[in-house]
Amino acid sequence: MIIVLLGAPGAGKGTLAGALKDELGVHHISTGDLIRAEIKAGSPIGLEIKRFVESGGLVPDEVVTRMIEGKVKSTASDNRGYMFDGFPRTGAQATDLDKVLSANGLAIDFALYMEASIDVVLQRLTGRRVCRKCGALFHLTNMPPKKDGVCDVCGGELYQRADDNKETIMKRMSVYNEQTMPIIDFYKKQSKLKTINADSGAEDVRKALLQILNGKKS
Ligand code: AMP
Repeated sequence: MIIVLLGAPGAGKGTLAGALKDELGVHHISTGDLIRAEIKAGSPIGLEIKRFVESGGLVPDEVVTRMIEGKVKSTASDNRGYMFDGFPRTGAQATDLDKVLSANGLAIDFALYMEASIDVVLQRLTGRRVCRKCGALFHLTNMPPKKDGVCDVCGGELYQRADDNKETIMKRMSVYNEQTMPIIDFYKKQSKLKTINADSGAEDVRKALLQILNGKKS
């Protein structure tokens, strides 16, 4: 199964993929996570792309597509499938993803558009906390850890992402509206678009995707 998760920052793409990747047995590929890992490692590519992320802009298409290409090439033969989270984010990336998959004998099953309202995503992003060690996601009020500042999964330290501040969030939203929203039409034209309401809680969203996968919802 190959699914593209589409939606604004804060729509819950990472939370949904985290909740279902093991159950579905798919690879969860988050370009945001791949990019943050490069920046943390201080690699040449990380140093080059840091400024784009910190300003709330997008990393150049060719850099991100190369990352995805590497991941797909090295895992395609295990036939587990994928959940792409945060990729594609531009029309060029959407076309590139089709090409990368097709070169490996694969194709997207559907794109899941997680539709969320602006008030909800702002509340989610400003309260989001991430585990420094394992990347697990928490929220100060919606999904609080059992112990303040400590990851329930691995005991790692929780932190707030540098780009989860109000000013950068507003920039990320306008980038999303201008560059990523048009992709919804790209998948609609391919008859591969499914839409769910992502304003509700993580468990409802998880169930909505499972219903689609079980053919109970179109
Ligand atoms: P995310 O974790 O998906 O919210 O991504 C965090 C940041 O990483 C974004 O604001 C972008 O700067 C960068 N990024 C993630 N995915 C992409 C992508 N597909 N194309 C370009 N930049 C990306």
